[in-house]
Amino acid sequence: MVQEIHYTVKTNRQNNNKFKSELPVNAKPGDHQMRKILIIEDEQDTASVLKKSLEASQYQTIVIGQGEAGLKAYKEERPDLLILDLGLPDMDGMDICRTIRKGDDATPIFILSARTEEIDRVMGLELGADDYITKPFSIRELRARVDVFFRRWDASVSKNSFARSTITSDGEIIRGPLKIDPVRRRVTVKDQIINISRKEFDILHLLASSPGKVFSREMILEAIWGVEWDGFERMIDSHIKRIRSKLEKNSVHPEWIETIWGVGYRFNDNMDRYTFS
Ligand code: CA
Repeated sequence: MVQEIHYTVKTNRQNNNKFKSELPVNAKPGDHQMRKILIIEDEQDTASVLKKSLEASQYQTIVIGQGEAGLKAYKEERPDLLILDLGLPDMDGMDICRTIRKGDDATPIFILSARTEEIDRVMGLELGADDYITKPFSIRELRARVDVFFRRWDASVSKNSFARSTITSDGEIIRGPLKIDPVRRRVTVKDQIINISRKEFDILHLLASSPGKVFSREMILEAIWGVEWDGFERMIDSHIKRIRSKLEKNSVHPEWIETIWGVGYRFNDNMDRYTFS
C-alpha cells in the first residue's frame, strides 16, 4: 500500500548541503525502468521524500541542493527527467529552466514550487516546463505523474499509442467512446450527439488535441479568443463546467477534463482510469 504524504515545506536557506543518492539495491543500470531523475531541491526533507519514493519505483535519483551545482550535474549526468525547485539558495529555478531550454528542448522538466502566484505557474509552463507541481503536494500524485510521463514517452518512442487514441485523416479525435469531429464541429459520446456551443467545442478540441498537456486559463483564452483578457480567466471555468455537465458521467469527478489546481486544465491522457463501459 502506498502511503500518501502531505507536508508543508519550510524555507531554509541555510540548508545548502549537496547530497547524492545511491543506486537502489534491487535495480541495475540498463533496466527498462532505470530512468535517471535529477532532483534540484535545497529542502532536505522534500528531497529525501522524493528520492525515497522515486527509488521505490525503480528510478535512479541524483539529488543536488544548489542551482549552480544542479546545472553542472544536469550537464554531466544527462538525466531522463529533471525535478526542479524554484526557490534555491544560489539561483532562481526559472533561470535554470531558461538556461537548459536554450540548448535542449527534449529533457522533461517538472517544476516544483511553493510559490503560489499564478504568474509563476504560467511562466514555468511557458518557459518549457512539462509539468508544474505546487507545494505542498502529494508524493503519490507526483510519482504517478512521473510514471505516466515515462509510459507516454515509451509509447511514443515505440509508436504504440499509450493513450489509445486515434486521429483520423479528417482530424477527428477518437478517444474511447468520445469523438470530436473538427470538420462537422460535432462531438459524440457513444454515438450520441452532444449539444455543445462553439466556444465549448473550441476549448474541448484544444485540450483533447494535446492530451496530458496542462493549459493555463490564460493559454486557453489566448488560443480561443486570440486576446489577453485580464480578469476574464474565470470565464474559462464556467465554460469547462458546462462542457463537463454535457460530457462527464459525474461532473464532480470528471474523467475527461482534469482540473490542475491553481494552474488550469488538461485532457486526461491516462485511459486506464476511465470507467466508461
Ligand atoms: Ca527551496
